[in-house]
Amino acid sequence: MNPLADQLWHRLTGIMPGELKQAELGWLATPLRHQMLLARRRATLIVNRVRLFAFLFALLTPMWSIVDFVVFPFPLWINLALMRFAACAAFASLLVYYRPSGNLFDAYRAMAILFAIPSVFYVASRSLLGSYHLTGLSAAIGAGYAFLPFVLLAGLSIFPLTLLESAVVASPILLAQLLAGYINWAALDWPSFAGAFWLLMLITAVSALAGMSQLAFMIALVRQAIRDPLTGTFSRRSGEELIDLQFTIAKRNNLPLAIAFLDIDHFKDINDSFGHEAGDKVLADVTAFVGKNLRRGDTLVRWGGEEFLLVMTNTDRSQAEAAVARLRAAGFGTRPDKMPLTASIGIAERSVDQAADWKSLVDLADQRMYRAKQGGRDRVVSCDAPAVP
Ligand code: GH3
Ligand code: MG
Ligand code: MG
Repeated sequence: MNPLADQLWHRLTGIMPGELKQAELGWLATPLRHQMLLARRRATLIVNRVRLFAFLFALLTPMWSIVDFVVFPFPLWINLALMRFAACAAFASLLVYYRPSGNLFDAYRAMAILFAIPSVFYVASRSLLGSYHLTGLSAAIGAGYAFLPFVLLAGLSIFPLTLLESAVVASPILLAQLLAGYINWAALDWPSFAGAFWLLMLITAVSALAGMSQLAFMIALVRQAIRDPLTGTFSRRSGEELIDLQFTIAKRNNLPLAIAFLDIDHFKDINDSFGHEAGDKVLADVTAFVGKNLRRGDTLVRWGGEEFLLVMTNTDRSQAEAAVARLRAAGFGTRPDKMPLTASIGIAERSVDQAADWKSLVDLADQRMYRAKQGGRDRVVSCDAPAVP
């Protein structure tokens, strides 16, 4: 890069959310590359926010009937009250029937329903109010009904959404507004219509920014929660969640799923000879080294002190053996005294080993790792074959 572009890039990244790493910045634009655990937590959060808003709207929507009753003439207020109670029932059923499932498409559907209810109410109430000639206070309150699209688009800001998702949610509302203007074109006061539309777009932009900044915080928090601070690999707890998920997916689609259980050899020796901090550094170096040699879709989990699980999706036994052989050929780095570091490894695979659940798959890999230790360390045991030095 030339120095000017370099400078510009630095300036630009300087104003980006500091809590994110470079690779994570793209996650603010689209949900396509989000990690599975992030997607699950985000889906849960979105559904919880939907339920919170459904609860608030279920309470507030019928309450406004009191104002309608005071300011509007007879059949109008009762018709509006009926619409409000229908909306209230819809919000209440959303609250009762929707529970977080961790599935992003369920979350999208919940959001779509949350936005659809007031949109229907908006269209119905506007067409009803349009047939009345209101003056004074009732005209003022009646005009307030036109603000619903503004409330909807501002409400978008409470969700941790990517730019693409905000655009997808906002565009039907903006399009409907344009369409309403087009249909009423003859009677339209176009400068005030254009002004209102401009304001709607500004609110949408601010909401999208608010959603992205929520998402940025969420990405950083999820990363901290699911990663082991020393090595940056997945922690035991999130690793268990991930293997559980991968196991379910593999079983459902009848795909292979391989796990390698790695235990560093004579690690206690490093602590004893060079100190605990040197041991920590070796652990961080090993994972950085192994991490570089992983394939896309492979996940490294810190299972215990110096024990790691390598989870390989859609990988059968021989592919797993080949992957582990490649890792061993690249080596696990060196000890502080420059001696090569070695590991004992056990491999297990879901379909060959006929594992009933993820726990028995991990147990099998663990037992084989133990056999590798007994066989003299620095070797792999895969299935029930003899240990390969
Ligand atoms: P083996 O070849 O049989 O695996 O021997 P080992 O010494 O690697 O295994 P052992 O289970 O006896 O010891 C593991 C050691 O790892 C003991 C513990 O003090 C050390 N350890 C666990 N977690 C950490 C850590 O976070 N940092 C450091 N520096 N050491 C750790
Ligand atoms: Mg151990
Ligand atoms: Mg060990």
